Amino acid sequence: MEPNNIIQKLKNGEIKLYEVEKHTSSVEEAIDTRRRFIEEISNTNLDTIAKYSLDMESAGKKNIENPIGTIQIPIGVAGPLKINGEYIKNSDTNNNEFYVPLATSEGALVASVNRGCSTITEAGGVNTRVIDDKMTRAPVIKAKSASETVKIKQWFENNFQNLKEIAETTTSHGKLIKIDPILIVGNYVYPRFVYSTGDSMGMNMVTIATEKVLELLLDECEAQIIALSGNVCVDKKPSSINLVEGRGKTVVADIVIPAEIVKNKLKTTAEAIVEVNVAKNLLGSAASGSMGFNAHYANMIGAIFLATGQDVAHVVEGSLGITTAEDRDGDLYFSVSMPDLPIATVGGGTSLKTAQESLEILGVVGSGKAKKFAEIVIATVLAGELSLIGALAAGHLARAHQQLGR
Ligand code: NAP
Repeated sequence: MEPNNIIQKLKNGEIKLYEVEKHTSSVEEAIDTRRRFIEEISNTNLDTIAKYSLDMESAGKKNIENPIGTIQIPIGVAGPLKINGEYIKNSDTNNNEFYVPLATSEGALVASVNRGCSTITEAGGVNTRVIDDKMTRAPVIKAKSASETVKIKQWFENNFQNLKEIAETTTSHGKLIKIDPILIVGNYVYPRFVYSTGDSMGMNMVTIATEKVLELLLDECEAQIIALSGNVCVDKKPSSINLVEGRGKTVVADIVIPAEIVKNKLKTTAEAIVEVNVAKNLLGSAASGSMGFNAHYANMIGAIFLATGQDVAHVVEGSLGITTAEDRDGDLYFSVSMPDLPIATVGGGTSLKTAQESLEILGVVGSGKAKKFAEIVIATVLAGELSLIGALAAGHLARAHQQLGR
């Protein structure tokens, strides 16, 4: 059909937005036609959204519906960042210095992370460890009464081995580790299914596997599935359970920075950094009921997620975590702990070409690379956190000197 005809039919409701592809000879023509329709009804010119180099036919199958083009976000690099990581050490390349791609429209972020990278690398590198690795799904199930919910809880506990086998028939990489905790609220039950999901972030994988287990529950128990996710997962919301139990990759990183490097690179002292960390990240966060006892993990997570095709809604989970700092006779001990970092090197948006290229810069494309990637992400978070806390401490020192007339 002629594009002008399609646009007219879109306007009068004869064709739905998602039906445009049925009436065009190519995906590109469908994208152009849908965008022209939007331009006409919103009286706009979308020339920049119209330009793209991504394979939109592939993206249209798994990443986007009703496409009209793409957006562009500037991408910069910070580095070299030296990382003493377990998975980095054991990877196929000998490289442990990285240039980290960061996509952002926030000026100064890359520069600040770069300063952190330079400080870390001069100090001999940041140590990283992956402590845990899992993805969760917790449906909400309704029973007739509270006493019936206890029977459902026991059914999950007594049949675990069988349920594990059923769940794992749906995937070759997903493994059901446990169903725990199983929360009860009145006549509702929330079993938290915990899986390992290989190098994928795993949300689709665990949803499909959990759904299969629930089919058996409905056969064997008097129960009703209210929703496949009952918000005890907890997906894409800040939560205490994720902070305590972990979700995605649970990672930790630390470093000792000699006093001289703190002075030359960060223009401050370990003592001043410790005070800012305690007053801001710990006490300020406690006083305000914040779950992020840190300065800005979300900045680094957001920029890496955009560059590498992660699910950006998981930035909210990645923002959870605690920063610590110690003054060790003038040297600075600094650490970041991230309990909830859902990331992938396989699946979801990682298949988009721009994401693949960013993952290639880091040497973490595809199978067997997710934990190495987690080490690079937390090292970058430490670089950005160190740089900002350092800048705040330097400002606080400078103001103190001015006030004291020194
Ligand atoms: P996916 O792309 O749906 O699944 C990963 C796929 O990669 C699986 O088919 C898996 O096969 C395969 N695979 C190949 N090599 C692998 C390896 N080394 N490790 C792990 N898997 C490997 O991705 P997903 O991670 O499960 O889900 C991510 C997507 O879910 C994102 O696009 C996200 O936006 C979306 N999401 C969904 C929900 C939801 O509720 N459904 C919620 C939030 C986000 P096998 O399964 O056969 O092993």
